Amino acid sequence: MKPYAWTIQQCHNALSRREISSVELTRAVLDRIAAVDDKVRAYLLVTPEVALAQAAAVDARRSAGEALSPLAGVPMAIKDNMCTFGTRTTCASRILHDFIPPYDATVVERLRAAGAVFVGKANMDEFAMGSSCENSGFFPTHNPWALDRVPGGSSGGSGAAVAAGEAIYALGSDTGGSVRLPASFCGMVGLKPTYGRVSRYGLVAYASSLDQIGPLTRDVTDCALVMNAIAGHDRRDSTSVDTPVPDYTAALGGDVRGLRVGVPAEYFGDAVEPGVRASIDGALRVLEGLGATVAETSLPHTRYAIASYYIIAPAEASANLARYDGMKYGLSVRGADIWDTYCRTREEGFGAEVKRRIMLGTYALSAGYYDAYYLQAQKTRTLIKQDFDRAFEKYDVLVTPVSPTVAFRLGEKTDDPLAMYLSDVCTVTVNQAGIPGLSVPCGFADGLPVGMQLLAPAFEEETLLRVARAFERASDFRRLAPLGDEGS
Ligand code: GLN
Repeated sequence: MKPYAWTIQQCHNALSRREISSVELTRAVLDRIAAVDDKVRAYLLVTPEVALAQAAAVDARRSAGEALSPLAGVPMAIKDNMCTFGTRTTCASRILHDFIPPYDATVVERLRAAGAVFVGKANMDEFAMGSSCENSGFFPTHNPWALDRVPGGSSGGSGAAVAAGEAIYALGSDTGGSVRLPASFCGMVGLKPTYGRVSRYGLVAYASSLDQIGPLTRDVTDCALVMNAIAGHDRRDSTSVDTPVPDYTAALGGDVRGLRVGVPAEYFGDAVEPGVRASIDGALRVLEGLGATVAETSLPHTRYAIASYYIIAPAEASANLARYDGMKYGLSVRGADIWDTYCRTREEGFGAEVKRRIMLGTYALSAGYYDAYYLQAQKTRTLIKQDFDRAFEKYDVLVTPVSPTVAFRLGEKTDDPLAMYLSDVCTVTVNQAGIPGLSVPCGFADGLPVGMQLLAPAFEEETLLRVARAFERASDFRRLAPLGDEGS
């Protein structure tokens, strides 16, 4: 297997045994990017100088005999909505086309301290608004499994990069499924941690009560390794929670005997493609074979989840995006007066979907409509959370599809925002409840990867990792996308 196709664990082992240097490993990934990224287009910016300097520094520390983190010297990609000191951060928006942050996001700072190698900034839907990566203000990313299909969104560049061998792992952000959906569509593992588990400081805000950063990796062990590095309290994020961070890798050896698995009926409606359903059914049988018990359950308020999410997220976005006014940073299109400058900057700088969200959100928050829309949506959010609370009295984990479909074709849903929003029907509940959700590959339909979503109560990421790892050991759908024949 080529080094660019290794897991973090495999990289770490090879680096520790001096079978390869970090500079060589980084060059292998950069060469892979040069070979395939004109087809995949996972990156908005590739940073070879940054990466090779970081790799050389890690090699020097290793030669000096320092004990290093498992992430040290391993090349990775960062979604372009996380601030990277001195490296352009655009959120895939023209309004931030030239923004160079003067600071690191906390997750970036932590990875830097662990010796991570930053290969580049991954493409995404503009301001993380989307499910296909087609709302990028620059260009869409293609699914490495089938180049005429979307990689999922909004962290589509992150998912595609890992699946195509263009990064060993990546960070994404998930407001309503944006780590889990690209993980599912690209056949990778993706985790949205509990709200408050990972600091949002330096993550450009979309919907602050829903946003979480999470890893996209090639297997479950790698997911645990990244969580070990990024999780934990941060006084610069007032919603980050001060509870101890376990060693997530300790959970990986456990089995699932006696595990109570609930399967919520609402997630298996007519919209779920037969191939997806069959893969999830197969996965449930594997879990049963490992000693879990599986029973149907109900989360009755699921049917309101898309409606409430698409009020709450745009409402928060409309407030968060007010700061892009052409005055402090980013694009500035000068007009006749300050008001004209605001209007021209925002007219030119934002894409159509972002404008749609700002209008929806402003409307939902405006006097006279606040009670009818925003307040109702908040009440519905509470009901959705209570559904989960009740289900977790009887079940240790819940299993659903990540998406009703496999990766769809580029352009298939771009003219129909509602159809696009419905791709999120299985994922938006999880952010509204604040609980952790993990996507793990569980099969293929029409040659495209299918993801199983595992859900657990707040701060039980370890349960998700244990179950996902047990499943992965018993099934093993891990593989990189077959881009030509180089992808094995
Ligand atoms: N597709 C959803 C949206 O457009 C979720 C995006 C996300 O999780 N960032 O809002």
